[in-house]
Amino acid sequence: MDTPENEKRSLNFIESIIEEDLRKNKNEGRIHLRFPPEPNGYLHIGHAKSICLNFGLAESYNGMCNLRFDDTNPEKEDVEYVDSIKEDINWLGFKWNDQPHFASDYFNQLYDWAVKLIKDGKAYVDDQPQELIREQRGIPTQAGVESPGRKRSVEDNIKLFEGMKNGEYPDGSMVLRAKVDMSSPNMHLRDPIMYRILHQEHHRTGDKWNIYPMYDWAHGQSDFIEGITHSVCTLEFEVHRPLYNWFLDQIAENKYRPRQIEFARLNLSYTVMSKRKLLELVKSEYVNGWDDPRMPTISGLRRRGYTAGSIRAFAERIGVAKRDNLIDVGLLEFSVREHLNSIAPRVFGVLNPVKVVITNYPEGKLEDMELINNPEDADAGSRKVPFTREIFIERDDFMEDAPKKFFRMAPGREVRLKGAYIIKCEDFAKDADGNITEIYCTYDPDTKSGSDSSGKKVKGTLHWVSATHCLNAEVRLYDRLFSDEEPAGHKDSDFKEFLNPDSLKVLLNCKLEPSLKDAQIGDKFQFQRLGYFCVDKDSTPENMVFNRTVPLRDGWGKRK
Ligand code: ATP
Ligand code: MG
Repeated sequence: MDTPENEKRSLNFIESIIEEDLRKNKNEGRIHLRFPPEPNGYLHIGHAKSICLNFGLAESYNGMCNLRFDDTNPEKEDVEYVDSIKEDINWLGFKWNDQPHFASDYFNQLYDWAVKLIKDGKAYVDDQPQELIREQRGIPTQAGVESPGRKRSVEDNIKLFEGMKNGEYPDGSMVLRAKVDMSSPNMHLRDPIMYRILHQEHHRTGDKWNIYPMYDWAHGQSDFIEGITHSVCTLEFEVHRPLYNWFLDQIAENKYRPRQIEFARLNLSYTVMSKRKLLELVKSEYVNGWDDPRMPTISGLRRRGYTAGSIRAFAERIGVAKRDNLIDVGLLEFSVREHLNSIAPRVFGVLNPVKVVITNYPEGKLEDMELINNPEDADAGSRKVPFTREIFIERDDFMEDAPKKFFRMAPGREVRLKGAYIIKCEDFAKDADGNITEIYCTYDPDTKSGSDSSGKKVKGTLHWVSATHCLNAEVRLYDRLFSDEEPAGHKDSDFKEFLNPDSLKVLLNCKLEPSLKDAQIGDKFQFQRLGYFCVDKDSTPENMVFNRTVPLRDGWGKRK
């Protein structure tokens, strides 16, 4: 898709496992993956990594990938999140197999299996206080204390469990536990909780259930029901794997088992990735919603101007690791810059304008200058940009007392206006505060780009827009949301202490070339010399709003 031939790489460890399984004809050669988000927030770039991995593996091995909402926690879940998750996966360019699935579709089956476990003597109701249950779990080096529930009769356990389901007991008063091993060094096997009581409406099952399954009980069984062959998850679930397998052994009657495989989650520098923290940023209005362009959410990145292709290329580039690591956010920026470089039309935009009057250029005269749209793309053609006596240039492209090495505009010096003429700065005007208000230049008619007969050489080339034909726009410049490399990595400080107070800068008086008049929300451009920009969803024809996606160069850009 985005990987050029010369970037072909060796198999990652998950591909090796899959290829080995295919060689052995395991599961009759079926390859079936799933992406299992909990609908309790918007997806972020870490999820994008997981999506590219799961759907990507399904694509490369002619398999399937399910979308399954892990909706077992109704307190925190919402249909808004379900909808945004579907939209984000589609936008990334992936299609799930069949309809989206929901763990809640399996609540009946999970309940029946739980009853079977009770009947098999493999599960029991525990009505001790939660505190005590936690204490009895003990520590890894010492066996825990067995609950009296373990000895209760099957009939009594069934009756209590039914009562739990029917809403006869208050929240937190009892749980269903699996009877595994209270002395296992793996704490997850010390009679883990399968169900808790929760009198809470569910966004799909309404008030039908008063008990909800725990992740460990719901997840593997859902994989099993859907015929998943490779259940790829992040490293923190490695210690859950024995329990994942134990549950499957209790319910499966044949040989088929989904196989859990763990990989390292994506961590990005200068970014927080936990949904709880992202939710806090949204709820406490540190940012303007889940799709704030500074957020690491897929919707935030999309609004910022990231392309789906650049995110897929990023996911491919970082690969799949078995050990936790921290990826430089610069690599993500590099990916989008690289993609936009090949697709974004070049235009002129002046962010911080100062007026230049070309005194020897006739008043009312207009020339259409022909400018190439994208030097990286021969098919992109060219456009006409109006040139007039009064133009805007960037304020910091002028210096009153310029050092020798300053190759832009300064009194007495010449520069080229890109695609137009060489002009010479003759004079300038200032207001009472000493700010430059106007710059006066002359142009040399023999220096028109494309037909320059002057033989003049100048070092500086500036972008510009006609002062009489430009558009006004608001431009939003973004910096990293956090000023610390690992904002969530400090034991003694809250991650919000590291919020960058200058992460958003709004410029209200920007001047753009008139060809941008019909730009639509989401359209992407390179403002020459300044970076990549896109039209924000707040934009209207009367008040255009652009986001800067990334500046043109940084450490990564220079390495090209
Ligand atoms: P939370 O942060 O709320 O604990 P989560 O990040 O695990 O939740 P889920 O909705 O459970 O969110 O995640 C769906 C899938 O995305 C899971 O398979 C999970 O392993 C994967 N995933 C989540 N975060 C990352 C990440 N940073 N890198 C790679 N995969 C991730
Ligand atoms: Mg999770």
